[in-house]
Amino acid sequence: MSEKLAFQADVSKMLDIVINSLYSEKQIFLRELISNASDACDKLKYLALSNPEITKAGGAFKIKVIPNAKDNTLTVADNGIGMNRDDLILHLGTIAKSGTAEFVKNVKDNGSAFDLIGQFGVGFYSAFMVADKVEILTKKAGEEKAWKWVSNGVDGFEITEAKKELNGTEIKLFLKEDAKDYTDTIYLRHIIRTYSDHIDYPIVLDLGEAGEETVNSGSALWMRHKSEITEDQYKEFYRHISKNFDEPWMTLHFKAEGNIEYTGLVYIPSEAPYDLFQPDKKNGLKLYVNKVFISDKVEELMPNYLRFVRGVVDSADLPLNISREMLQHNLLIEKIKHGLISRILKELKKRTKDYEDYMKFWKNFGIVFKEGIYEDFNNREEIASLSYFASTHDLDKLTTLDEYIERADKEQKTIYYITGDNLAVLANNPQLEAFKNKGIEVLLLVDPIDEFWTQVLVNYKGFAIKNVAQADTDLKWKRNEQKADEGSLKKLVDYMQELFQNEVGKVQVTEKLDKSPASLIVENGQMSLHLERLMRTHQQQTAFASTRILEINPYHPLIIKLADMMQDEALKPQIEEVAKLILDQAKIAEGEAIKDPAFYVEAFSRYILKAI
Ligand code: ADP
Ligand code: MG
Repeated sequence: MSEKLAFQADVSKMLDIVINSLYSEKQIFLRELISNASDACDKLKYLALSNPEITKAGGAFKIKVIPNAKDNTLTVADNGIGMNRDDLILHLGTIAKSGTAEFVKNVKDNGSAFDLIGQFGVGFYSAFMVADKVEILTKKAGEEKAWKWVSNGVDGFEITEAKKELNGTEIKLFLKEDAKDYTDTIYLRHIIRTYSDHIDYPIVLDLGEAGEETVNSGSALWMRHKSEITEDQYKEFYRHISKNFDEPWMTLHFKAEGNIEYTGLVYIPSEAPYDLFQPDKKNGLKLYVNKVFISDKVEELMPNYLRFVRGVVDSADLPLNISREMLQHNLLIEKIKHGLISRILKELKKRTKDYEDYMKFWKNFGIVFKEGIYEDFNNREEIASLSYFASTHDLDKLTTLDEYIERADKEQKTIYYITGDNLAVLANNPQLEAFKNKGIEVLLLVDPIDEFWTQVLVNYKGFAIKNVAQADTDLKWKRNEQKADEGSLKKLVDYMQELFQNEVGKVQVTEKLDKSPASLIVENGQMSLHLERLMRTHQQQTAFASTRILEINPYHPLIIKLADMMQDEALKPQIEEVAKLILDQAKIAEGEAIKDPAFYVEAFSRYILKAI
């Protein structure tokens, strides 16, 4: 009895793309099928740890590649975990993987699939680049029934109960006319060596009458010596393990010795994954115990701020029968994690020597990496030293805290920063005017995470780290300009305070301003205006409102004038109007909404008209 089922709509779309694509490196389909076969062996090997019976009949794990030139078919067979009916429908009939869904979305958005196949990889479905029919015969380990799945990649697929003696999966490709090459053993050997040499199971090529040949080196890549691994092999292994298709930006392969021994082969991608910010994003490290795959869900192996790292960790010091539950709160795992972090940070340090190169990493992962300043108490200073920030020193180039310190004046013992949502707006924030005048550099922090790490890293190498809004007293310097009369200024401040009592907590005089008459800040220790806006957009909360302070510039002609006008009771209506405009301008400069735009436009236009 056979059942006809339709592909999920997204699968159909993708298959349509795959089949019609002009993607030139069609041979990668073989890497994908071998990679899946290897995963299937890994899964069964793990199950066998607690249930050795399950692999008894199947013999040693291996992956067979069987070309048949006469029938123009190519079969990839494994003795791994296999699939039952539900698996076939779920894994090969729907898009269970968000990565594939992302692929389809990208194609829809960009209209072309050409490079995207290379970029995302389409896993199993890539078989349809070279085959017009695929037949799968599979039996899940530990189950009785076997299944046949057949599809032409267009009209859906058919599932039938079938006969198969041993567990595992055979994937038979009925090759297209123009894909005859894939029955050529010399070509196949070449493809397997190029893309799949690192696979830990023997890949056995069927040579017909000439017998069989194991084509790959057949040992776990990470266990081999560095000198025996080529750059291309490292790269292909990265693609296999990460299921990414870019090049690794960093490859770090090491053996840790000491009270716990382990091997690590970890990578940092050169492109940010689409799901970097998904909250349920797990770390990308696979844990092996003596070459046996244990889990890729050991959250304790990598901190959150390094969640973009991919690779494997293998330690023979962990018990082989360790359960996934036991891995939580495990002391050895904790130690490995610390070791990994410190190696990765060390390697990053080396890479900072080449600014352009480091920026490739930073633009992808800097935002995530900076979470470490907040999160990782032990490595806080180290992580900060590897972080780059925009700065008033040079708007086109990011700077480190150490470079900032080097440039700072001898007397300066503070690193100043300002936070906001947009670099261009921030660079012109009135709060920076006096700093610019004095030639004091200010970091311009525009990422949400900056609001958090600045709360915990209040000191760096002897320098305080301070928001400019809280730096007024540092800036008292001799100014020769005319200043508003003290008495009248006091009256103006009191008056404005009364006038704006529902809008700002306080009005005060500041030394920080130069060109602007006024500026808004928040009370020391309260949430910055930037953070408040962030909270509001993310949680629709207004309950968080920090108390605002309106700072006015006693050297500004407008303030001097207003202070003078305070002497004359009859001018009150006009003072009120101008004061309101000043508050509105301060809000605009900060990127805040103003209370009454209609009033602002009308009054402002009226004053301009007077002047022109
Ligand atoms: P991915 O390997 O990234 O998960 P694929 O499209 O390559 O995506 O494969 C989809 C799924 O199909 C796999 O995750 C696996 O569950 C299943 N699968 C594919 N090939 C095999 C196989 N040889 N043995 C067992 N399961 C397989
Ligand atoms: Mg795959």
